[in-house]
Amino acid sequence: MSLPRFKLLRPRSVAEAVEHLVNHAGSVRVLAGGTDMIPSMRQKLFEPEYVVDLRGVTALREVKLQADGSVEIGALTTIRTIERSDFLREHYPVLAEAAGTVASPVLRNMGTIGGNICLDTRCLWYNQSLTWRKGCGFCIKKDGDLCHVAPGGTKCWAAFSGDTPPALLCLKAEIEIAGPHGTRRVPLSDFYTGLGDNYRKLQASELVTRVFLPASSKDYRGVYRKLRVRGSIDYPLAGVAVVLKRSNGHVSDARIGITAVNPAPLLVKGASELLSGRAVDEALAEAAGDLAAKISKPLTTSALTPEYRREMIRVFTKRAVLAAAQVNGN
Ligand SMILES: Cc1cc2nc3c(=O)[nH]c(=O)nc-3n(C[C@H](O)[C@H](O)[C@H](O)COP(=O)(O)OP(=O)(O)OC[C@H]3O[C@@H](n4cnc5c(N)ncnc54)[C@H](O)[C@@H]3O)c2cc1C
Ligand code: SF4
Repeated sequence: MSLPRFKLLRPRSVAEAVEHLVNHAGSVRVLAGGTDMIPSMRQKLFEPEYVVDLRGVTALREVKLQADGSVEIGALTTIRTIERSDFLREHYPVLAEAAGTVASPVLRNMGTIGGNICLDTRCLWYNQSLTWRKGCGFCIKKDGDLCHVAPGGTKCWAAFSGDTPPALLCLKAEIEIAGPHGTRRVPLSDFYTGLGDNYRKLQASELVTRVFLPASSKDYRGVYRKLRVRGSIDYPLAGVAVVLKRSNGHVSDARIGITAVNPAPLLVKGASELLSGRAVDEALAEAAGDLAAKISKPLTTSALTPEYRREMIRVFTKRAVLAAAQVNGN
């Protein structure tokens, strides 16, 4: 599968990158590590006339501690850097762990946190070659007007399948978005639309530039659990991040984030109310699993059945809550 023809633009600053996006609105796409974007271009899922290669914007490659104790991570920081950062492993271990499960070592060396947050949603009927899609019939997400997964519907249910966003949601991360009118900072939880096709709230002239982790999330310890076909490389088909804050032998706050079972990564509502003030045991962990499974709505967007993926959210959440309690010394 050859790449479509495009013109490569190589900005050295965020301002220059935004200028390119404005000048070529409608026919331009941002490239970071390219680990998802290039295969998608080969499959003719994206055929932009211009590609803005961000790799020369070196200011976006750092993990920086801020004066208020929070952490700033440049959008071009590689997944490998996050996985290996001693600082993040010590203070935000759930993020480092989730990063360590992304794809394979080679892809983690190239892939970036910004690309992981902005990752396109995935579906069995979409992530295929042009010939395959032509043969089976195009769908709402690209070139068609029907959905093979939910026939008769008008909505796309492709699943958001990034590993770091559920961990970032648990850490109450915010992201910085740069555009022609300057920068704005938004909670990551407000970034996704919940739609499989138009999945993120980002204008064509904007890009994600930074991720911020609040100092207050440093006290939260947790784990990430993931279902995938091949443990060495594959995208998640269900993923769960759990973090707990503990005081006096009890959980004083809890957050659970899930991925790959909805068109957006989600925080599980009610997790804190359920777990706070109690010692974690099997029954409590199981109740947390039920809560997470309730908001998981996978459809037949992958080779594994929706029922199995939903059940694995329940099982992984239970296991992750028990493991997080152990990490926290409960
Ligand atoms: C075989 C294989 C296995 C994979 N397995 C996993 C996995 O297990 N888990 C997982 O999470 N991912 C997986 N991936 C996907 C990918 O490698 C990672 O998600 C990676 O972090 C993407 O980052 P990138 O920098 O390479 O993004 P790119 O491929 O460069 O970009 C991805 C998308 O984000 C947009 N984008 C990138 N950066 C920005 C920005 N700063 N602002 C706005 N838009 C931006 C691009 O336009 C594109 O649409 C896999 C990929 C492959 C090929
Ligand atoms: S969920 Fe439906 S519309 Fe969306 S990519 Fe899959 S088949 Fe296409």
